[in-house]
Amino acid sequence: MGFCLFNNVAIAARMAIAKLELDRVLIVDWDVHHGNGTQDTFWEDEQVGFLSVHRFPFYPGTGDSDETGSGPGLGTTLNLPITFGISRRDYMQQFTNQLLHFADKLKPQLVIISAGFDSHRLDPIGSLGLEVEDFGTLTKALIDVANDHAEGRLVSVLEGGYNVDVLPPCVAEHLTELLKADAR
Ligand SMILES: [Zn+2]
Repeated sequence: MGFCLFNNVAIAARMAIAKLELDRVLIVDWDVHHGNGTQDTFWEDEQVGFLSVHRFPFYPGTGDSDETGSGPGLGTTLNLPITFGISRRDYMQQFTNQLLHFADKLKPQLVIISAGFDSHRLDPIGSLGLEVEDFGTLTKALIDVANDHAEGRLVSVLEGGYNVDVLPPCVAEHLTELLKADAR
């Protein structure tokens, strides 16, 4: 499907349902590529919500806004295709608006982030125009959702990011926001 042998985020969500006896988990994937494997895994699953924001049209070709799940999982998949050239402000506005509505509907007890950093402006593969500070903004939005619905329970898993000079400050920005939330 993509670049990974194992989908760590999907496994974590399944484990949370099976072993921790949670009823609802939200996966948010802000990697620049559509999370096609995660979407497939939970396509008919009403317990695991999946929100992917990604460049579109782009590899792997999936992730249009009309892909919303099926059967009992209808409506628990939300795709936000982003056109190349979008402004950072529009990206953030679309993402946060949709995230809040989706989270209010799903009421997750755990939030898991597929944290890819390949939408940074200087990423050689994704390059969707984001700056380092934008990953702090994304992180804060997810922390708010976790606090509002999941008693602050938030797990983040590193995914894409292909500029070795840009990846460290992006990850550091992300971790700094997570640590701030942890200290509160
Ligand atoms: Zn990616």
